[in-house]
Amino acid sequence: MERTILHCDCNSFFASVEGVLNPELKKYAYAVCGDPEYRHGIILAKNELAKKYGVKTGEAIWQAKSKCPKLVTVKPHYKIYKEYSEKVFNIYCRYTDLVEPFGIDECWLDVSGTTHLFGSGEEIADELRSVVKAETGLTISVGVSYNKIFAKMGSDYRKPDATTVINEDNFKDLLYPLPAGDMFMVGRRTAEKLRNAGIFTIGDIACADERTLKRILGENGRVLWQNVNGFDYSRVHSFDYREAYKSIGNGATFKRDLVSQRDVRTCVFFLCDKVAARLRKHNVECSAVQVGIKDTNMHSINRSVQLQSPTDLSFDLRRTALSLIQDNVDVGKDPIRALTVTGTKLLNGDDVCEQISFFDLDYHTKREKEQRLEQAKDGIRHKYGLGTLTRCSFIHNEFGF
Ligand SMILES: [Mg+2]
Repeated sequence: MERTILHCDCNSFFASVEGVLNPELKKYAYAVCGDPEYRHGIILAKNELAKKYGVKTGEAIWQAKSKCPKLVTVKPHYKIYKEYSEKVFNIYCRYTDLVEPFGIDECWLDVSGTTHLFGSGEEIADELRSVVKAETGLTISVGVSYNKIFAKMGSDYRKPDATTVINEDNFKDLLYPLPAGDMFMVGRRTAEKLRNAGIFTIGDIACADERTLKRILGENGRVLWQNVNGFDYSRVHSFDYREAYKSIGNGATFKRDLVSQRDVRTCVFFLCDKVAARLRKHNVECSAVQVGIKDTNMHSINRSVQLQSPTDLSFDLRRTALSLIQDNVDVGKDPIRALTVTGTKLLNGDDVCEQISFFDLDYHTKREKEQRLEQAKDGIRHKYGLGTLTRCSFIHNEFGF
């Protein structure tokens, strides 16, 4: 049976919520921006008027203001956005129980089983647009298709406040002339690799040889080829379905750059303590560690390494993270702007048994001590509050945490 899948996307979500809360704003070009004090001073969302001036999400406030000097900037109110997100998702849930969120303001709906109640996919899409607008003041754009990827492409195709149907008859006409970078899951880097191989449009991807794509992009190339040809059979999960945690990570953009070993140590300790506490909270252990490093030119690299045995200790995470950083950055010479530490390949804590290497008993004695220490700290924080214990190096630090 052909499926009917919708992808709904709130238009300029953060900016639209601000407009609902304060309708006066709508007279002006405005944008929701991060806090410049913490170097998060970038555009998070903008309204249509600001868009007309060429203001782009992700650019610095000064860049936006050079194009639109009268741009009104608004601080984000994440708690309120979460409430609006829930309101909108609750509306979707009236039409099907298969509602799979994709971020705070987007989700897929599989309405194959409910079209006999509510009408065709297109009719449901139009109804959703008007119900969401009436009940929340927000507009959404909706893509209707027979698979998730094309539904997502549909909600991007025309916005704001529009329905786009992409079916087996029209998908080539609508999608194939678009640049390859417009395809779902094709980022800037991937688009560049494709361009270098003479692949410029989505149609070019579809016509390319599956093996060529696999050579350029690895396994992702094969999946991409299938997606542009409409062979996406992935299912829409129900709203309460949560995939088991695949990874747990924390990152930060620091208030000032990290320019010494000491800076890096302090910040790695901070991130690893957080990640480890979350691993223990969810009773999982990671068997690999990934570090993301961003330099002052906004260039990022990710490096990961497999651990000898799984862990939920900050002690193991920071040893690994620090050595990954040493191996990839000339600390002291190349300033670091942002770092993330992520524990990946998670295992259920109950299934983990530790492998003890007899060649490294020193390490194990030390590790056992650390384990008791970290568990004791969890206990104290649980009983007396998160802020009761902190490392001396974190007090009055200049990094913004
Ligand atoms: Mg959106």
